Amino acid sequence: MRIYKTAAAAVAVLALSATATACGGESGTAGDKPAGGEVYSGTYPVAANVSLDSPTLKAAQKRGKIVVGAKADQPFLGLEDTDGKRTGFDIEIAKMIAADLGFAADRIEFKTVDSNVRETSISKGQVDYFVGTYTINNERKKQVGFAGPYYQAGADLLVRAGEKDITGPETLKGKKVCSIVGSTPLREIKKPKYGAKTTELSKYSLCVKQLLDKQVDAVTTDDAILKGYAAQRPDRLKVVGKPFTKEPYGVGMNKDDKALRDAVTAALEKHIANGDYKKAYEGTLGKSGATYVAPKTPLPRS
Ligand code: GLU
Repeated sequence: MRIYKTAAAAVAVLALSATATACGGESGTAGDKPAGGEVYSGTYPVAANVSLDSPTLKAAQKRGKIVVGAKADQPFLGLEDTDGKRTGFDIEIAKMIAADLGFAADRIEFKTVDSNVRETSISKGQVDYFVGTYTINNERKKQVGFAGPYYQAGADLLVRAGEKDITGPETLKGKKVCSIVGSTPLREIKKPKYGAKTTELSKYSLCVKQLLDKQVDAVTTDDAILKGYAAQRPDRLKVVGKPFTKEPYGVGMNKDDKALRDAVTAALEKHIANGDYKKAYEGTLGKSGATYVAPKTPLPRS
């Protein structure tokens, strides 16, 4: 099991990430194929003649492709391999939505958007919608519209396999904990009650590297993400397994585009009901050991 195919690829990825950080966050990181065999990639029937009173959709139809923001270094959720192929649960969700909006997978342009630039990227119209472990909360709702929740995660801790002292967030006093800028778990772990020393980076894969290199003692973010990394390196990493926040995942889009939000909500409900969602889940995130829980429907309407 490995994160990068070769040492050279790892160096290239790190160099890419370093450049990306230097120019403000956005990047296209090439990861590797995740462990656990082939990750499921489905095709979904494409709706014809979609007509919506949505400025975002109208612009996408004119352009002939839909631009979707995603993560690139999260195994089983949103991963871009060295050939540029994207896989994972969030990628499947993005494809289901695109199909219902009239766009086949080859008419999706994926853009890698890191956590700290999600709100800007969405509100500036750099992406038509974003699917990437994106927690719905009131603060973000001031800038972004959300459809969902389509999944519920919780912040947890990733530690080295031999770790004995860190057994939950209450055991982090004086420990070095890595997380990423603009994420809700980082905000939580910075609370004085935990007494942790934080290392704040732009990508989770960089935090995982620091953990393997013993520069930090733990990585915190959603259990769904951490389980993917642990599944890649079960000999060296484990998830503590005591979630300490609630992270309901939503699809982010322009705050004022109500027609798009309603259409995305309907698409999510349709694919939950027809079994596409469960099949996608079991072939992606389910492979990292996260058990399937059917999302509650109907989803909230704005
Ligand atoms: N779900 C959390 C968030 O939206 C953490 C995962 C992420 O950074 O994408 O901030």
